Amino acid sequence: MAIFKNLSIRTKIILLIVIVSTINIILASLVQYYYERLLYNLEIKQKLSILSNVIGDSNTGAITFNNKKESLDYLSSLKTDEDVQGAIILLPDSSLFAEFKNSESLHTPKYNIPLKSDTTIFDHNILISSKPIYLEGEIIATLRIAYSLSEYKKKEKQYISVMLYIVGLSIVTGTFLALLFQGGITRPIFKLYHVMNRISFKKDYSIRSEIKSRDEVGKLASGFNFMIEQIEQQNNELKTAKNQSDTALKTKEKFLANMTHELRTPLTSIVGLSSLLEETELNHEQKEYLENIKHSSDHLLAIINDLLEFSKLGTGKLQLEKSQFSIHKTIERIERSMEFELKNRKLDFITSIEESIPHFVIGDEYRLTQILINLVGNAIKFTPTGSIRIEVKNLTDDNDTIVVEFAVIDTGIGIIEEKQELIFESFTQESSDTNRKYGGTGLGLAITKQLVEIQDGKIKVKSKKGEGSSFIFTIPYQKRQTTDSDKYKDQLISLENSKILLVDDNPMNLLFAKSMLDKNHFITETCNSGDDALQKLKVGNYHLILLDLHMPKMDGYELSRIIRSFGDKEKSNTPIIALTAAATLNEIKKCFDSGMNDYLIKPFKKEELLTKIISLLLNFPRKKDD
Ligand code: ADP
Repeated sequence: MAIFKNLSIRTKIILLIVIVSTINIILASLVQYYYERLLYNLEIKQKLSILSNVIGDSNTGAITFNNKKESLDYLSSLKTDEDVQGAIILLPDSSLFAEFKNSESLHTPKYNIPLKSDTTIFDHNILISSKPIYLEGEIIATLRIAYSLSEYKKKEKQYISVMLYIVGLSIVTGTFLALLFQGGITRPIFKLYHVMNRISFKKDYSIRSEIKSRDEVGKLASGFNFMIEQIEQQNNELKTAKNQSDTALKTKEKFLANMTHELRTPLTSIVGLSSLLEETELNHEQKEYLENIKHSSDHLLAIINDLLEFSKLGTGKLQLEKSQFSIHKTIERIERSMEFELKNRKLDFITSIEESIPHFVIGDEYRLTQILINLVGNAIKFTPTGSIRIEVKNLTDDNDTIVVEFAVIDTGIGIIEEKQELIFESFTQESSDTNRKYGGTGLGLAITKQLVEIQDGKIKVKSKKGEGSSFIFTIPYQKRQTTDSDKYKDQLISLENSKILLVDDNPMNLLFAKSMLDKNHFITETCNSGDDALQKLKVGNYHLILLDLHMPKMDGYELSRIIRSFGDKEKSNTPIIALTAAATLNEIKKCFDSGMNDYLIKPFKKEELLTKIISLLLNFPRKKDD
């Protein structure tokens, strides 16, 4: 049955027609066969009965007078019928009275089998009829006639072979006719199938199936057309709705972008004017009002900036930068920009960057800064006491790319588990209470998430209510292939903002050296005498001192000795480079004797100065944050 189910409709129709017509023909032939057989039996029995009656009646006299010759003559009249094999007359005591054989060679029938007096039996191919012969109501003898059925059997065989021939012929013609007519049923089904395929592949819902009949296939096609019509209508409605919603979205985004721009301009003036106002003479009350104005406008500006960023992200207008930057520096800058808030809130700030993180990567520094500022800003906002930690790890690292994992971990109020997924959605805060207590728009994390994702990164949060939160995100960065000159530049960049004290009595020398150092982002302070330098060294901390040897009053050697004798180990060990015009061996020896670390002969080249500074700063690693 399963095989039949999977056959094509064409094959099914052909099989059905052939099987049904064959069964019909066989049934009809069988009925015909049995009917013919029944007729023949009746006919032959009737014939034998008449023969028996005629022969029996004519033999009554011969039997009564025991005239066997006359009896045989009567029996011999059966010779005319070829199918009669023989006949006997038995007396009531079963003794043979007369016998006739149509041919000697013929098989002798079994006359002597016990038989009722008036009956007919079949014995193989022979029919034996037994008839009593009466005289005045009394049985005087029995006539038995043997009748051959071989002629009948021959006819029967012929009949069966004709029947088989007819069955064969009907299978062939049935198949032929089925093949001829099945197309009328299967062709419309195939057409419908092709129309369906065309619609699916072309996604063209305007195509319809042709309806050529009113039968089931015609109904199927019209039902199908109706269904496609409805789909087409729905599609059109959806397209219109989508267009409308796209236009509405674009209008909304444009409005948001325009409005935020418009709002920013006057707000920037308010912020700027407030700063100018701060510089003027103000009484205590006015100062307090101004403080409030500044706080509110800063807050408003932050919200508008968030909205602007959000609208840019929505319209896909954001372009990613791809330039070389230092993750270390970015984090340092963030710490510096948050310094005030951190001190205000008495929060510790800890950073840990895995050693394998390269100094330079290629990516979008601005976006990383934005993400970190958002997360650190939130951490500060939601952490009443404790610490904020930034951890940077190297997740995977191959020749070209490095996947960096950043974690901003706080010891703040935490977020309940059910809300941890939701807070990344726009305008969502942990609870309605959050806005009242902490303010905010619920946009920060939505923007942060998008900023991470447009850089092919992922962000997640781990948090426990009351125990703090960790926001963890990854960003893949391209690695930079470094050369020697890159290395030199990297070192210079990594030493940016080192504080250098420049001591020289010649203003031209001071100007020359300072401009060189400024260009390379060192923080340089200058003084033109040893006394001045000592004053500065007392209050400030420097990573390196550039010291002219020949100055009036206190010379470089003396100043160096005084520095080396400072009680504060950190200050007394500050590396010193001597600047001298006369590089005699004696002078160089004196330099080292008075505790200086290196020397430069004037006029020196920029590279010479920078190389010496780099080497000393790297050998005397600076303390952070001084
Ligand atoms: P906003 O800070 O403007 O409300 P955000 O999208 O930055 O919007 O944050 C959404 C919400 O997530 C916050 O309102 C707060 O409930 C929760 N949240 C974010 N960061 C922290 C954190 N570090 N600790 C506790 N809750 C946080």
